[in-house]
Amino acid sequence: MPANILVVEDEPAIQELLALNITQAGHNAIRALSVEIAQGLLRETLPDLILLDWMLPGMSGIEFARRLKSDELTKAIPIIMLTARSDEYDKVRGLEVGADDYVTKPFSPRELNARIKAVLRRRAPQMTDDPIEISGLRLDPSSHRVTGNEAPIELGPTEFRLLHFFMTNAERVHTRSQLLDKVWGDRVFVEDRTVDVHIRRLRNALSVSKHEDLIQTVRGAGYRLSTHMSE
Ligand code: CA
Repeated sequence: MPANILVVEDEPAIQELLALNITQAGHNAIRALSVEIAQGLLRETLPDLILLDWMLPGMSGIEFARRLKSDELTKAIPIIMLTARSDEYDKVRGLEVGADDYVTKPFSPRELNARIKAVLRRRAPQMTDDPIEISGLRLDPSSHRVTGNEAPIELGPTEFRLLHFFMTNAERVHTRSQLLDKVWGDRVFVEDRTVDVHIRRLRNALSVSKHEDLIQTVRGAGYRLSTHMSE
């Protein structure tokens, strides 16, 4: 699943380079030349990751990072800080306000993409392309293939994303609204029972290889993928 990555960088040439790298890595780049523009974009949609330049006109990147991390709505969005200085003190300050990682300019595309991938893997594993296997059920994001005990399983796009999310967040219970946020996207207007419809379709598809019991209903709470018997 491609991640939406917000790039906040005031130097157009660097912004261009960052956006190009992000696109080539298979993600979507959303661009902002200042904190003000970024704030406007955040009111519309929440990105999966923010690449944030340290030195910006107006509000600095570090101050913006601090605000994002103290706001309920945005605090879970991972942030990678960009800076021209490889100062250890800056690094500590960046991490202190809650940034997840740090890239020093000039950066190599390979390094940048490795950092992005590492942060996504840690914070939003459903955004990476790593194949996952649980109890004979295998999902490969890059080829979009799902197999159960090596037999192909056909899934619609929503069921695929749902299963990917469950598999990368196994054993945890998710409420319907959390699933709507993570699988359907932020602030999308869909009724909670839509989730139930897609869960039913997912179970039906998984029943081909008898994996349907992995998707469990947790009464009064939501759903989870678990390899343990549901109670
Ligand atoms: Ca700058």
